[in-house]
Amino acid sequence: MQTHDVLIVGGGLVGASLAIALDRIGVDVGLVEATPSGALPKVFDQRNLSFAAATVNALTALGVMAKLRGATGPIRRIHVSRDGDFGRVQMDAADYGREAFGQVVVARDFGEALEQRLGELAHLRRYRPARFIGLGAIEEGYRQIRIADADGERPLRARLLVAADGTRSAVRESLHIDTDEHDYLQTLFVARVRAARQPDGNAWERFGEHGPTALLPRGDRHYGAIHGVARADADAVAALDESAWLQRLQRAIGWRAGRLLGSGERSAYPLVQVLARALSAERVVLLGNAAQTIHPVGAQGFNLGLRDALTLAELIEHGRDDAGAAALLGAYVARRQPDREQTIEFSSGLARLTGNPAPLLRPLRSLGLLAAAQTGSLQSLLVGGAMGFRGDVPQLCRSAS
Ligand SMILES: Cc1cc2nc3c(=O)[nH]c(=O)nc-3n(C[C@H](O)[C@H](O)[C@H](O)COP(=O)(O)OP(=O)(O)OC[C@H]3O[C@@H](n4cnc5c(N)ncnc54)[C@H](O)[C@@H]3O)c2cc1C
Repeated sequence: MQTHDVLIVGGGLVGASLAIALDRIGVDVGLVEATPSGALPKVFDQRNLSFAAATVNALTALGVMAKLRGATGPIRRIHVSRDGDFGRVQMDAADYGREAFGQVVVARDFGEALEQRLGELAHLRRYRPARFIGLGAIEEGYRQIRIADADGERPLRARLLVAADGTRSAVRESLHIDTDEHDYLQTLFVARVRAARQPDGNAWERFGEHGPTALLPRGDRHYGAIHGVARADADAVAALDESAWLQRLQRAIGWRAGRLLGSGERSAYPLVQVLARALSAERVVLLGNAAQTIHPVGAQGFNLGLRDALTLAELIEHGRDDAGAAALLGAYVARRQPDREQTIEFSSGLARLTGNPAPLLRPLRSLGLLAAAQTGSLQSLLVGGAMGFRGDVPQLCRSAS
């Protein structure tokens, strides 16, 4: 039976990053991915990913940033405001001694860069297209699993099984780990937009009645536009022609970037928060979206998932002889807890600012944003989130060397 130190199910953003981090320290890894070779997993689409400064550092050290073929968009200033609200928050990275809070990268470009880097790894064996279909026994310190590929079903085994198979994780389900779910009843539209004023480092985020709207500075002279709408309106918004869509977006975000001139295709994402009630089981650990899928409003999901992956790699580096030892997994869960809790709280707090507020509560909510802006507490939360240096930060996030 094929045996590995670590078997990762899911070669999306987090699973692929983990494979690269483990190869760097010489760990023997198997990576099981449902998408065939020659194609990128669906998740590497047109969405714009804001990489926190900590993420940029780590991906630079892992040799991924150097593989990006397009320019990234630095976020130098962040402006946050709310419809009908006097509160406003503006932050400048220079005030924090930084050139940028982070970088905007198109998911597809990131997928291509990861793919190139995966192709260079010495200790990696890839299984694709292959699907995880079930767990097997635990024997002699190894966890068995079953996968299905072109040759049919077969067993594999590893010291540690990593579930990086996304929001609807089949590994998590096989372990009967329950989830807490919250449907925001919002749909987020994402598109590449051209405006009269070219991006110059400003990111604008505006909270509306039915969801957030944002313009993120991409590296290709366009903005990454994000527009949240009530789920009930999603079909109608999807059906708008380009000019009506741009008018809608302009109303929601205002004239900060000047007139919006053109838009690429829109993709739509229904927003649901899914939190696993446990992060580990015997010789198994859950990472990334399989562990927590959160509202994208704070741009935290991958940044958090990468910190999951790097923390695990760090612990494996120090606990070399058995990557799936109970003590190692216990240390992993304890170390991730504060960052996980704070980031979930931060993202759902921001999402609440965009909920469908009862008219009576609206003034209270406005006062809340205003007060938070004045005391600086919202700034420090936003800056912490934007940069990704929260809690016990993995070593690779600390500097780009
Ligand atoms: C619109 C939008 C914008 C976002 N913006 C940001 C942002 O700005 N910053 C940020 O940090 N995050 C952002 N996110 C979140 C980010 O996309 C996720 O956090 C990230 O994709 C999670 O990565 P993952 O590897 O855990 O899961 P995924 O990327 O979903 O990957 C899961 C992988 O597992 C594979 N798989 C699934 N089941 C099986 C199986 N049974 N067998 C084998 N393989 C399987 C899939 O093919 C896939 O490749 C955004 C999300 C959305 C929707």
